[in-house]
Amino acid sequence: MSSAPNCLFCQIIEKKIAATIVHEDEHAVAFEDINPQAPVHTIIVPKKHITDIHSLVVTDRELIGHLFFIAKTIASKRGLDKGGYRMVINNGHDAGQSVFHIHLHLLSGRKFKWPPG
Ligand code: AMP
Ligand code: ZN
Repeated sequence: MSSAPNCLFCQIIEKKIAATIVHEDEHAVAFEDINPQAPVHTIIVPKKHITDIHSLVVTDRELIGHLFFIAKTIASKRGLDKGGYRMVINNGHDAGQSVFHIHLHLLSGRKFKWPPG
């Protein structure tokens, strides 16, 4: 599985940096955000190092769909569908991306505003 040196999320995937992992399979890992922005704030990442959405190649389509399916599965297990939940991908500096290993934020447990800040 391709990983990038000095990538924080690759190091979490490789268990070199500790995280509260809530899901792991052959292709992806989900863990709790260290600085949660809501009562539920889980990060879902592919094990393959992909920098951002703009770096996706056609063969990544199923992998990205897999991340959404994991989010749905976690949401179901935690009963988040009752109140709702938000899934976010920040892409690029201006969008607020701070870790350049593509990831899906799963947020829930409070009301969210729209438009986002
Ligand atoms: P983004 O700003 O969209 O790139 O999201 C990166 C997220 O990673 C932020 O919500 C951070 O709080 C989170 N984060 C940073 N370091 C860690 C870590 N060591 N363990 C878990 N989450 C982290
Ligand atoms: Zn990485």
